[in-house]
Amino acid sequence: MVSPSALETLKSIVGPEDVLLDESSIEAYSLDAFGRWGSRQTDPSTPRVYAAVRPSSTIEVAQIVKLAYEERIPLIPYGGGTGLTGAVTPLQGGIAVDLKKMGRVVEVNPQDMTATVEAGTVLADLNTALNQQGLMLGHDPYSVPIATVGGTISTNSVGYRAAKYGSMGDQVLGLEVVLPNGEVMQTRAVPKTSAGPSLHPLFIGAEGVFGIITRATLRVFRLPESRLFKTIAFPNFEDGFHAMLEMFSIGLKPALIDLTEEPDTSKSSASDDSSIPYKTPYKTWMYLVFEGYAEEVKAQVARTLKVCVASSGEDIGPVPTQEYWDTRHDSAYRYKENYIDKPVRDWPLRDWPRTTAYPHVAIPASRVLEYRLCCQEIAAMSHLEVREYALWTQPELFSVILVDIGLEGDGTGGRLDKAVNEIVTLAQDMGGSMEYVHGVGVKLAHLMPRELGAGMDVMRNIKAALDPRNIMNPGKLRL
Ligand SMILES: Cc1cc2nc3c(=O)[nH]c(=O)nc-3n(C[C@H](O)[C@H](O)[C@H](O)COP(=O)(O)OP(=O)(O)OC[C@H]3O[C@@H](n4cnc5c(N)ncnc54)[C@H](O)[C@@H]3O)c2cc1C
Repeated sequence: MVSPSALETLKSIVGPEDVLLDESSIEAYSLDAFGRWGSRQTDPSTPRVYAAVRPSSTIEVAQIVKLAYEERIPLIPYGGGTGLTGAVTPLQGGIAVDLKKMGRVVEVNPQDMTATVEAGTVLADLNTALNQQGLMLGHDPYSVPIATVGGTISTNSVGYRAAKYGSMGDQVLGLEVVLPNGEVMQTRAVPKTSAGPSLHPLFIGAEGVFGIITRATLRVFRLPESRLFKTIAFPNFEDGFHAMLEMFSIGLKPALIDLTEEPDTSKSSASDDSSIPYKTPYKTWMYLVFEGYAEEVKAQVARTLKVCVASSGEDIGPVPTQEYWDTRHDSAYRYKENYIDKPVRDWPLRDWPRTTAYPHVAIPASRVLEYRLCCQEIAAMSHLEVREYALWTQPELFSVILVDIGLEGDGTGGRLDKAVNEIVTLAQDMGGSMEYVHGVGVKLAHLMPRELGAGMDVMRNIKAALDPRNIMNPGKLRL
């Protein structure tokens, strides 16, 4: 609980209108997309925050954290609430700290090629501001119209341009963070330092457990002079994979690369290969976007086509990729319409996480094909259908969509969870990582000791040193 005097102090810090105590806000701030899409929105055992606060400045955040430290109140930083792992779930109750009022673009510096922004800035808003100066953000996830700078740093999110520009963590040059004792720390926003280990990476992918990010200085890029779309069809996943590997080995850098194997709905005849648990024949397509200065784009396309043709690929033109590119943010606009700024009673109920799972793992490139076959076996043994295999942005970043046809609509999700557990632990056992894009949250926290090994104690010691009262998003990352 939060004491009446603490609530009064909160109201004096942010103003009474920015301390939210109504039922709908409490429910909304207790869930991200993982919970909103799932049954958790109707599950009475889902933990809830006591209140949400909306600070407008770093000073206000620092005052809130100091109060929470003194009163031992858990704080859960809250960005766009688009997380897909339940990383905002208030496992011990507490207060959601919504950063979205801190959405100012503080400075864009075209010479330094940097932007300094407040942590609650929505990515799309930042990109609009940058575009006005001929610049753009290197990070472009599906969730760009809702996700915030602080949230995407805290999950080390991956987007459509990651093959060329890297993950959200790669964009960060410097951070301002309110530490769990209320002190404000700023790291130096330079591309390189040799003055001891850099501290800002500690907060990348940290899900708010080490402090609240209030500002970030990010790399920005020139709007591309040229952009070309290509789609290559391969006879099978293996050929596509070998082409991708060769492209990366020789240093080709498309902005987007997505090698996807999925059912070919244009063909109706069932596969007669009983070793493949698919209902329809599959198609393997590589979606490619190249952008940059004109000569570079032209040269990259020419060499890519050569590599792909040598691996039995066929250029089927720009249209499929252009369509893919043009609709890439649609799911986020639908999410926005359904769940953002809408009373909880009007949210649609979905049962997605019980019938569909979408693990994203990182695997050493040399083991990707073997791993895919193992996933196929796990799916068949679990009576699940594979709807897609994909390599997104790098040959090592592998995802699979699994669907429990038998339980669609009313299942418990038990066999899906079991299969996902097998798939992600297998990735760890094969020298990879259990997740490359969405973070840990409540979904994968139980596997953190397995993921980090002896590193788990290092992490616990850092947490104890920075946050001895365990007020910052307690329980996340299994801390
Ligand atoms: C339709 C849809 C499409 C998506 N597409 C992608 C995609 O393409 N790529 C991808 O990577 N993910 C995607 N996601 C997942 C999600 O958008 C990302 O995980 C995103 O990084 C979360 O950002 P957010 O601002 O919504 O953070 P939130 O969900 O609000 O929070 C995520 C975590 O960050 C912490 N946090 C938030 N702000 C701060 C802060 N200022 N300081 C410290 N900690 C903080 C929270 O406590 C929580 O632990 C998608 C989700 C949806 C719903």
